[in-house]
Amino acid sequence: MTRLSKNLEYLKPSETLAISQLAQQKRAAGEDVIDLSAGEPDFETPKIASDAGIRAIQQGKTHYPPNAGLLDLRAAAARHFSLLSGGRPVNADNFVVSTGAKQSLFNACFALFGSGDQVLVPAPYWVSYPQMLRFARAEPIVVPGAIEWSLKVGVDDLERASTVRTRGVILCSPVNPTGAVYTRAELKAIATWAREKDIWLIADEIYRRIHYGTGPAPSVLDLPDELLERTVLITGVSKAYAMTGWRVGLALAPNPVAKAMAGVQSHITSGAAQPSQWAATAAFSDERIEEDVARMVEEFRHRRDLVVRHFRTHLSGVEFVEPVGAFYFFFRVDHLFNDDITGAAKFCEALLNTAGIALVPGEAFGDKRWVRLSYAASAHDLDQAMDRLSGFMRKG
Ligand code: PMP
Repeated sequence: MTRLSKNLEYLKPSETLAISQLAQQKRAAGEDVIDLSAGEPDFETPKIASDAGIRAIQQGKTHYPPNAGLLDLRAAAARHFSLLSGGRPVNADNFVVSTGAKQSLFNACFALFGSGDQVLVPAPYWVSYPQMLRFARAEPIVVPGAIEWSLKVGVDDLERASTVRTRGVILCSPVNPTGAVYTRAELKAIATWAREKDIWLIADEIYRRIHYGTGPAPSVLDLPDELLERTVLITGVSKAYAMTGWRVGLALAPNPVAKAMAGVQSHITSGAAQPSQWAATAAFSDERIEEDVARMVEEFRHRRDLVVRHFRTHLSGVEFVEPVGAFYFFFRVDHLFNDDITGAAKFCEALLNTAGIALVPGEAFGDKRWVRLSYAASAHDLDQAMDRLSGFMRKG
């Protein structure tokens, strides 16, 4: 047997990507599969951003970019995020641009945490957080959220889970996989607690623009300056601008941390692809693109309503988190468990094989009682999938 390094002791390939691939294989083999497992918007990248990327290639902007990102992109991001948070000052020098927010998160975990450190991870969590912490040899400590609070966590939950070894917390809002959104007061309470404990808050706000309340979802950038001294903000263009394949993510961090994160990256990937960075610059700076964002959010809102309505009408009694942001719907399936279906993974397997719908089992997010449905799919597909799903669940 091939002996691999101890670095991979905890490695589990991403379950969300695995189910998407299986669904695609079935589709390629001619099977009728509706794939609601994807973590990406089903819209085209807005033309303004794509054109900026194409122009960059045509103008020969195809060489190594600065390691921490193009100055133009960092300046555009600083202006953009300042505007989103009522004009607060945001310093372009504190941004580090990476190959997707995934790399930004990895850089942050690798730069801030190490052997012997514990990092709190509210659950359900995005699949990669515990894995990234393990790569850094830190220990993820899972903190389950309360159902009566949309599976979010509060300061009391975090406090109970913390020890002298706790060095940080990774908070995602809007939350993947539930679509729950932390209010400004909740964010403030957690950031204040983290500051008092002298630990790092990594705030993953990649879904901030996809919010069904008014304006963008509350952000750590809405909090007073002193609460940002121990905060790393993770953001990007993948979700808001349907730019997943361009691979551009950003982190905003206090100076020494931004430097350390750039240092990590300088030995791994260097700067993110230059044409992609120009496309992202356009996304953050061209106001016309806001119309595209608004249109996408409205369409997601419409689909969210469709899914919620279907559950209320046809699957009443099935517990779910009402989404306020992102494009996911998280619902409970443990009432259907039996000798064969012993967890969400088995439920999803049976659902894919008998009803032709691909969803992601809660095991990927740290809770095998739940399943994630992505409504980044056409209303037509969603309608059909809902009928199949309720048929399957009522039979079960
Ligand atoms: N954070 C969360 C919560 C996500 O869901 C994702 C993408 N699925 C990312 C980060 C990574 O985004 P990117 O495409 O920018 O790497």
